[in-house]
Amino acid sequence: MESLSPGLPGCKKCLLREAFPADYEKYVAGLLTRIPPGEKAPEPLYAQRLETCRSCGQLSSGTCMGCGCLVELKAAYKKEKCPYRNW
Ligand code: SF4
Repeated sequence: MESLSPGLPGCKKCLLREAFPADYEKYVAGLLTRIPPGEKAPEPLYAQRLETCRSCGQLSSGTCMGCGCLVELKAAYKKEKCPYRNW
């Protein structure tokens, strides 16, 4: 994947949809709709995971520096796990 918003400063504690809404729409929003219902985390769990990421020092503009994933996508999969076991 090409780098997201090259040249723009990152944002600690921000999700991608907050830091770079256009990148969120381009790289995440459409993919979220394609997750099979059986693989998708329930909405309360998804929201809880994202809140945990928002308070984590590994987050930078929606990317987890621990695993390199976009957390808004990773957290949407029920079977995924935080690399530091925060969720
Ligand atoms: S996935 Fe885990 S390590 Fe990465 S930002 Fe979220 S809480 Fe932090």
